[in-house]
Amino acid sequence: MPTEEEVAEMFDALVSNGLEFVEASIEELLANRQTFSVAHFATGVELLLKARLFKEHWTLVAADPHGCAWTGLKDGTVSTTAASDLCDALTRVTGTPLADEKVTFKGIFDHRNRALHFIPSPDRAGVAAEQCRAWYSLHNLLTHARRWGQHFEPYADRVRAIDARMLEYRPYLQARFEAQSTRLAGLDKAGRVFECPACHFRSAVLPDKARMISAFECPVCNAEDYVALVSCGARIPLDEIPLDCSCGGEHDREELLEALDPTPSLGPKDSLTYEADRGYCGECLDHEISVAPQAGGYVCVNCGVEFEAAAISRCDWCNETWANYDTEFSYYTGCEWCDGHSPRD
Ligand SMILES: [Zn+2]
Ligand SMILES: [Zn+2]
Ligand SMILES: [Zn+2]
Ligand SMILES: [Zn+2]
Repeated sequence: MPTEEEVAEMFDALVSNGLEFVEASIEELLANRQTFSVAHFATGVELLLKARLFKEHWTLVAADPHGCAWTGLKDGTVSTTAASDLCDALTRVTGTPLADEKVTFKGIFDHRNRALHFIPSPDRAGVAAEQCRAWYSLHNLLTHARRWGQHFEPYADRVRAIDARMLEYRPYLQARFEAQSTRLAGLDKAGRVFECPACHFRSAVLPDKARMISAFECPVCNAEDYVALVSCGARIPLDEIPLDCSCGGEHDREELLEALDPTPSLGPKDSLTYEADRGYCGECLDHEISVAPQAGGYVCVNCGVEFEAAAISRCDWCNETWANYDTEFSYYTGCEWCDGHSPRD
């Protein structure tokens, strides 16, 4: 068994290596060496995802955690989890689904495989867009308190530096932006465009009837995410909330829940029968109440997923409200937060 110190040392090596590969891939793209950039970027992502698994427990990076010996890990003879399985493994150990990230990172890993088999990489703009989008997802995971921020805090400066360097991809993305500019200008007039948090062009497009919490997609870097329209009028990605905003105020989830499901102000004579129309989310399984009504349905202020009213149900045992969660036998089986009726009771 390794000592705590040895485990900390290896975690540091995994993260440092991962960041170094990402840093190298940026240099390579800027130097017009696409194939290396594609391969090294994917390796960087893979190492950083593995580092998060390792943080949970060092055996988890092995393809077979039960047969994993520390010595094998140290001298590199253990076969580790395949890149394509990392997001599923992370979902299992962290309890938070990585559904969208899985699609994004799969693109990165597939591209590495193609690049290493002499299939030419797409143009520099294509690679820049792909990395911009994937770095946005990875950066969210590595920095936000609600995700993995606490584990990667010691590397915050280096992560910030990479984030800043990503801006050097902008000239390659300029042509993609210009190709869309007429359409974007029209959408902008209709109030449907804001600055993309991934590539920073004014190119993030909201759906036709944008709600307070809405999905967006960016045709320049292909990023997709969910944003909230907060009280000062800014659109903020959900992962970034709570946020000390440039408006001087702080925006948090309570503000969003309160805007979606206002609590009536109760006068002294009013009865206290008001019940909040809020619940837990069966999609992200966040530990706090995060679902509230929006536009005739419901929405989660944590993951952004929208639900129809029919997706709401209650646990028959603890009576908690759920969105998109199977409560059919919950009297006996309970829900995420209770064990249900045990026969011994
Ligand atoms: Zn973008
Ligand atoms: Zn603000
Ligand atoms: Zn959710
Ligand atoms: Zn329950």
